[in-house]
Amino acid sequence: QESKHRENGVVRGGEIFNEKFRRKNHIRAMLAYALEKDGFEVHYQPIYCLATGRFATCEALVRMRDPEFGLIPPDEFIPMAEENGMIVSIGLVVFEKVCQFMTAHPYTEGGFETIGVNLSVVQCMQESLADDLIAVMEHYKLPPGRFKFEITETVAAASMSTLRSTMERLIDYGCAFALDDFGIGYSGVTNMLNLPFKLIKLDKSLTDRLTGEPRTRIAVEAIISLIHRLSMRVIAEGVEVAEEVEILRELGCDYIQGYYFSRPLPEAAFTALVKKTAWR
Ligand code: C2E
Ligand code: MG
Ligand code: MG
Ligand code: MG
Repeated sequence: QESKHRENGVVRGGEIFNEKFRRKNHIRAMLAYALEKDGFEVHYQPIYCLATGRFATCEALVRMRDPEFGLIPPDEFIPMAEENGMIVSIGLVVFEKVCQFMTAHPYTEGGFETIGVNLSVVQCMQESLADDLIAVMEHYKLPPGRFKFEITETVAAASMSTLRSTMERLIDYGCAFALDDFGIGYSGVTNMLNLPFKLIKLDKSLTDRLTGEPRTRIAVEAIISLIHRLSMRVIAEGVEVAEEVEILRELGCDYIQGYYFSRPLPEAAFTALVKKTAWR
């Protein structure tokens, strides 16, 4: 009986593994289909300004609409799309959709003045990226000052000059850059100092530790003051409870993003939320 039990466990484990494997392969195979069939959709998450008590800006976050699995989150397909290079086309599709969204909701009619758009470093390694993005902004006649590009991990030193020149072209044109996920992995002080960022986004892992740990509060307070002394602004990511908002306010944080205010929402739900809350 015991051996049968164990066998069951193995079989079940194997099924779970196969299911994950199948899902992964399916998603990989569906990337091209999604590109062809308009299968990517962009959701939007509002970002709250502590100084004004209002939603000040927002972030665009891509999802893939799959006929079998429904909505697929970016962590499940962006890394694959980076591996096979499709991120370049996906990135342009996302940016086009973001520009359509910005056009459909003018600032004067309840839209946002600025929006954060994630760029993969694989995209930034394309010499043509800046020109491609500029062409889309010009097509929609949207001022470059409305776009903040968020980048995460940075590349090997050899590729640094390509990344820097992409950033400089877009900054000269009038856009800004944010360093995403600050505090984990490659997103650290060296990148913050070496590249021309205007905004730093504190990773959720730091936010999560604020409530229980006095040492994290001390560190985050010092990080925020360092960022301010370098003339940049701070957004805390992954804020889920009121206590975190209050601590971040005390520590001098500028902006808050997280489920506490809202999850990322499809375009219609997002605009409805922004209109209905007096926060904007
Ligand atoms: P990110 O740029 O750091 O985006 C923030 C992520 O945190 C989003 O996950 C968002 O839904 C999630 N989040 C926000 N507030 C909370 C919270 O209070 N609690 C929790 N648990 N999570 C929260 P999402 O949408 O799944 O995106 C994951 C990552 O995928 C993004 O991280 C970004 O690195 C990447 N990504 C998303 N859209 C794009 C895109 O258009 N292009 C590229 N290259 N990457 C993208
Ligand atoms: Mg981001
Ligand atoms: Mg982040
Ligand atoms: Mg992230």
